[in-house]
Amino acid sequence: MTVRMLSEASGSFTGAGALLTILRDGQARTRAELVQLTGLARSTLAQRLDALLSRQWIVPTEEAISSGGRPAVAFTFNSSARVVLAADLGATHARVAVTNLATEVLAERAAEVPIDRGPEVTLTWLLRTFEEMLAETGHSVEEVCGIGVGLPGPVEHSSGRPINPPIMPGWDGFPVPEWLGERLGAPVLVDNDVNIMALGEHWAARPGADHLIFVKVGTGIGCGIISDRRLHRGAQGAAGDVGHIRVASALDIICRCGNVGCLEAVAGGAAMAARLRAVGVEAAGSRDVVGLVRAGNTQAVQLIRQAGREIGDVLASIVNFFNPSVIVIGGDVAEAGEQVLAGLREVIYSRSLPLATQHLTITASELGDRAGVIGAAVMVIEHVLSPDSVDQSFVQA
Ligand SMILES: [Zn+2]
Repeated sequence: MTVRMLSEASGSFTGAGALLTILRDGQARTRAELVQLTGLARSTLAQRLDALLSRQWIVPTEEAISSGGRPAVAFTFNSSARVVLAADLGATHARVAVTNLATEVLAERAAEVPIDRGPEVTLTWLLRTFEEMLAETGHSVEEVCGIGVGLPGPVEHSSGRPINPPIMPGWDGFPVPEWLGERLGAPVLVDNDVNIMALGEHWAARPGADHLIFVKVGTGIGCGIISDRRLHRGAQGAAGDVGHIRVASALDIICRCGNVGCLEAVAGGAAMAARLRAVGVEAAGSRDVVGLVRAGNTQAVQLIRQAGREIGDVLASIVNFFNPSVIVIGGDVAEAGEQVLAGLREVIYSRSLPLATQHLTITASELGDRAGVIGAAVMVIEHVLSPDSVDQSFVQA
């Protein structure tokens, strides 16, 4: 009965899903407040609350008595109702977590997992790790509401499949969502690592920012765009590929993408390491470059400052075009802190329009190397708890 009523109201402003959003936001907590806010009849409201209670999405709590009399029953979102499996798979390094529905980490692991071993080997490792971590936290696979995975390459948003990922041999078109979904029995969402880092940083550190750009400077360079508090992926999921914007100082350099003159080919961690090797300084990748900067190696310091200015030059145009309120710099190279941020700020503030930079904050990532895994969990939570998904879950029941 309840289910039929809900299915009829599915998608409406005050369906069970919308009610859950109101309770999550804390806009209203008691029946009286909910009636006032939604305009629902008390009987209809009771049915929807019962539906949410039956799935344990919400729990009743007793409100403090403010004006004497009987304490009112309030309802709060139950962030322990389900668990989320989240993974940030990088080129060589993976971070995996089990979280609740408020992105609180229940278990977390980091491991060296080279992505170039291919999808079967990598995902089998991930599956086993998820299963071990679920056991560790005392949860079963039935409690998993979704799985979020970040990959270090372009991902087609509609299918969740990597498309021509340059550093992921064997992964092109691989059905990651289906492979994991069949084995774990929950929806799987896949996105590129920069997008999930932007989501994680926005959720955990900058929830008030309406327009945010997260720039990952690691081996390569990419950015995730939060526009009007939502991730902007573009038509195919390729938005934010700033690493392959042409810059004047790189016109004689061939990028790994095959083009000439890409930002990444001068300011990416791999490019900087190669330049250091060319002058006899040992550096295998972006982490080594940062290590050298921290140790005070003059060549590395000069290189990273110049990289900051190069990145700033591209971002100055993006600031004029997009007018973000926050630019967050993340990835390995961001660990060099002010050495990279100073040049970047200098160029952006001098090259962008004054109106665009008036209230612009340029900062290093607060979440650091956890931004991706937290963002993978956010991606799942926002999907599973969206009003449409919640209403749909009752229709399917
Ligand atoms: Zn390129």
